[in-house]
Amino acid sequence: MTDRPRLTVLSGPSGVGKSTVVAHLRKAHPEVWLSVSATTRKPRPGERHGVQYYFVDDEEFDKLVANGELLEWAEFAGNRYGTPRRAVLHRLEAGDPVLLEIDLQGARQIRETMPEARLVFLAPPSWEELVRRLTGRGTEPPEVIERRLAAARTELAAEPEFDLTLVNTSVEDVVTELLALVR
Ligand code: 5GP
Repeated sequence: MTDRPRLTVLSGPSGVGKSTVVAHLRKAHPEVWLSVSATTRKPRPGERHGVQYYFVDDEEFDKLVANGELLEWAEFAGNRYGTPRRAVLHRLEAGDPVLLEIDLQGARQIRETMPEARLVFLAPPSWEELVRRLTGRGTEPPEVIERRLAAARTELAAEPEFDLTLVNTSVEDVVTELLALVR
């Protein structure tokens, strides 16, 4: 037996590289189980239903919420995102490690409902670097970038609420550190 937390939550500001870290992890270590969230956001080029997200419409998302099928959910930059409850609990009951990549509001809900979870904050090397990454993605209109910058500023201030911080200087290093935590 081990008292290592089975549930790890990776959070941090938009644009810090959470999804890049997760994509690398998924590719290099398919044995690590990652929860796939539901979202009302439209898919970006290359995203596939059931891989990065379950892409649902507003009505379907309402149903998930009403039926208590989400472990946590939040509205972020005009879209809703949520973690499917059943799959996560099933894995945890089986004793498998579970990794969630969610926003700060979601991380706070998990802290409340599952206090044994380990909350990991992914921090940018600097604010300037975060602005560069958020502006440079090139897939979002300016008003969306503005909203994400405002959210990122608030989210950076939340770092002390987390159990530990990983600085995203190199994706490979973060993946290695995360793996050591999750396994
Ligand atoms: P994106 O639209 O860039 O894929 O994600 C936007 C934000 O939503 C990111 O901060 C991401 O971590 C967060 N997010 C993704 N899935 C979930 C989820 O299931 N719950 C919550 N609370 N946030 C999520």
